[in-house]
Amino acid sequence: MAEDKMLAMIEQAEEDLLHTYNRYPIVIDRGEGMYLYDANGKKYLDFVAGIAVFALGYGNKAYNDALKEQIDRIIHTSNYYYNEPAIRAAHRLKALSGMDSVFFTNSGAESVEGAIKAAMKYAYLKDGRGDHEVIAMEHSFHGRTYGALSVTGNPKYRESYGPMVANVHFAQLNDIQSVKNLVSDRTAAVILEVVQGEGGLIPAQEDFLHELRALCDERDILLIFDEVQCGMGRTGYFYAWQKYGIKPDIMTTAKGLGCGVPVGAFLTTQRVADHSLSAGDHGTTYGGNPLAAAAVNKVLDLYEEEHILEHVREITPVFESRLDELVSGFRCIYARRGTGLMQGLVFDRPVGDIILKAMEKGLILINAGPNIIRFVPPLIVSEKEIDEMISILTDCISEVTGEKL
Ligand SMILES: *Cc1c(COP(=O)(O)O)cnc(C)c1O
Repeated sequence: MAEDKMLAMIEQAEEDLLHTYNRYPIVIDRGEGMYLYDANGKKYLDFVAGIAVFALGYGNKAYNDALKEQIDRIIHTSNYYYNEPAIRAAHRLKALSGMDSVFFTNSGAESVEGAIKAAMKYAYLKDGRGDHEVIAMEHSFHGRTYGALSVTGNPKYRESYGPMVANVHFAQLNDIQSVKNLVSDRTAAVILEVVQGEGGLIPAQEDFLHELRALCDERDILLIFDEVQCGMGRTGYFYAWQKYGIKPDIMTTAKGLGCGVPVGAFLTTQRVADHSLSAGDHGTTYGGNPLAAAAVNKVLDLYEEEHILEHVREITPVFESRLDELVSGFRCIYARRGTGLMQGLVFDRPVGDIILKAMEKGLILINAGPNIIRFVPPLIVSEKEIDEMISILTDCISEVTGEKL
């Protein structure tokens, strides 16, 4: 009977929702720690975290209470007035990142939009031209709105929607010469993910980032780091660039920032803040509203109290070594990629069947491209849950491929 109820909901959804997703056939009902429950009460170990969003355990009481308290006080004002939670959240984000100025948004894509606009305005104020260009990376992902799509290096996402917004040229990640080849006196910005997420868990190399920083300094081009997925502690640093100390001129953040409450931000240095967007140039009705900002504040409190960054650094070697055991044990797995709690296993075949089999056995996984299983679990994941995940995944790979570990 219960099963029928979930099926009925799914059928209803398929009738009513625009078909922009091939959804997995479960209705998620609630969460507890590292586990999710579907509408039938079936339990799943979650290694997706709503795609690198929910860093804390599900059902975190302190987080939930903070949101409830804010709801009872006020949910929304307008950016024409100040609100205390946003003032506090901005100040804390500045301190954590070393950036100087914050603009709150409602999503990752909107953070990217704002970052591009800020860079374009900066370039415009220098030379008054209206034909500036952006250099982005092949295989990058920056979101689905037009500006963000324009800098996304995956032709599949862009091809039906031309012409794109900005004049964008695509270079190869970790190949500085490919960037230099594209630089002109019209280049306003270079944008990249410090660790590519959707594109296949590929970290930017330290040398490349250094050379990029030097190139941008030399030509007064703004360097934009998209930290929407790799930020908020996922690599063991608050922002992935902090590992190398290579600071961007503009950075974006979202996903883990509100741990489920839709909120993002872009942050700039003082120089960009002083010479780009000014009053009337950019805005948002919801961005940084009291509820979203209260979520950010509580997330930052809990990161501190629960020593999230330290935990990620401690657990990462354990996670990596377990994944590496699968790489050496299964011929169908080529490699492990990624950093921190943002990892991928590259298979010699599409991974869709393995992910479905895992769901059957109570494990939630997701892909990054057809052949890669992506692991972006809540950041509180422990060794016990890693072992549980590896054990289920091992069975799934064996059942689907016929290979034994
Ligand atoms: C998810 C993602 C985005 C888009 O964020 P949305 O909140 O879905 O708009 C942008 N950049 C990167 C690197 C992402 O992973």
